[in-house]
Amino acid sequence: MKKTYSLLVLFIAFVMSAASFAADVRDVRLWRAPDHTRVVFDLSRPADYQVFQLNDPERLVVDIQKTNLKKLPSNLDFQDTPVSRMRHGVRNGGDLRVVFDLSQQVKVRSFMLKASGELHDRLVIDFHEKEKQARTVKKAVDITSDRRPVVIAIDAGHGGEDPGAIGPGRLYEKHVVLEIAKELQRLFNTTKGYKAELVRTGDYYVGLRQRRDIARKMQADLFVSVHADAFTNAKASGSSVYALSQRGATSASAAFLARTENDSDLVGGVSLSDKDDILAGVLTDLSMTASLDASLRIGSNVLSEMGQMSKLHSRRVEQAAFAVLKSPDIPSILVETGFISNPGEAKNLATNWYRAKMARAIFNGIDNHFKRSPPP
Ligand SMILES: [Zn+2]
Repeated sequence: MKKTYSLLVLFIAFVMSAASFAADVRDVRLWRAPDHTRVVFDLSRPADYQVFQLNDPERLVVDIQKTNLKKLPSNLDFQDTPVSRMRHGVRNGGDLRVVFDLSQQVKVRSFMLKASGELHDRLVIDFHEKEKQARTVKKAVDITSDRRPVVIAIDAGHGGEDPGAIGPGRLYEKHVVLEIAKELQRLFNTTKGYKAELVRTGDYYVGLRQRRDIARKMQADLFVSVHADAFTNAKASGSSVYALSQRGATSASAAFLARTENDSDLVGGVSLSDKDDILAGVLTDLSMTASLDASLRIGSNVLSEMGQMSKLHSRRVEQAAFAVLKSPDIPSILVETGFISNPGEAKNLATNWYRAKMARAIFNGIDNHFKRSPPP
């Protein structure tokens, strides 16, 4: 066994952070995405760690230096994941070793995330399933047929490790917006001429660039990202619609919001390999100008529908440098369905009837646009 052990070290990762004091594992969480499983260790402080894989049988070993773990949480459900069991022990007197027994070969990615808001420093381990590596998002339609539906990519913001804004009564933006997104998808898919797909279908994190890639694979005619705002002032209220800006933000609040929404990757966890590579050059592309023009028109249709059922934060479509909207070729809007930090609006956003009303307004706005100007 010892020989196999040294021969089969496949992958080692180091994190450069000198931790001279012991850390505690406060919690362990598990997120299941369609193509990978994520395990997150909440640490009381950053720690150095190594990860390596062994096979025969398949295992992943995680060594975390100077770290204590009293007991593994009992509520981790590894069903439908490549992990069959997780166990732990103490090494060298004070280091923690965690072993994941695996039911299949996986590609592992690991990284540390910095503490953010209520979240601790975290060690993230992603298990990517090999057979699902090449998982292509199925094209929403077969465009060889002569009359294709209008394809809408509906993106519920945040998810998994990234809760988004947190409102009174621990109302999480990620849950609210997934419900609105599902209702919006239902409205489109029960209307002739549309086909809608969700960018994220459950409670897991998708990187901002990956969200655009998923929409592109769907060959979407529109990308609509659904969010709920938060601001330091609990009185801030109203819904709003945003498009990408090629230059600066159209207002200070648009700039503030783009900054906080773009922080999602830091909170939700995307490793360096996922860094944004769409540079300013692409933004001046002609197709970008055309799709931006469409984004603004669709946005103002949605805004006027939302204005009939809720207070508006701003009467025009605001623009700022939102990473999630940077598709050069797909019209893209970001809808803030209200301020989850505002007690009154949070109360509304917590209810099904209000979410349904909000989804209906977004649907009507988009439908108004495509009725008048269908995509080619
Ligand atoms: Zn958001």
